[in-house]
Amino acid sequence: MLQYTFEDMQKMDRAILGNMVPLELFRTIRLIGLNQGLPMGGKGTTLTVGRKIGESLPVNSVDELLQLFEELKIGIPRIIFSDESRINIAVDDCFCKGLPTLEEEKMICDLEGAILEGALTKIMGHRVSVKEVKCNATGHEHCEYEVKL
Ligand SMILES: [Zn+2]
Repeated sequence: MLQYTFEDMQKMDRAILGNMVPLELFRTIRLIGLNQGLPMGGKGTTLTVGRKIGESLPVNSVDELLQLFEELKIGIPRIIFSDESRINIAVDDCFCKGLPTLEEEKMICDLEGAILEGALTKIMGHRVSVKEVKCNATGHEHCEYEVKL
């Protein structure tokens, strides 16, 4: 079976509407389609989808990954802690910024964490795990991921 690659996604020929779609469409697919449309808030599925996307990204280093994350306008990532066992990545201007808080406990940027996990696993050559530890949607000052190397 032939499969699309990320490079295919970058081939665009849309004369009138161009290469952008509005943030509300991305949010709708993410939060209403995935999180609310799938059983269990889409938990396992979102993880599978995110990892697959992460693995498909044409990046070979953490720097390249963070740069692409920003180019794709998911958010502006920056490393706020790093040692041999752990990296913490804060994300400013995350796609979720401005959404109302629905539940104090419910962080909503799980897909983006899974994308980082898939990409970092490929870059590092071994399995890493990424956990969402802060989110604008739960009242934090930014979204943040903790990467266990
Ligand atoms: Zn968030």
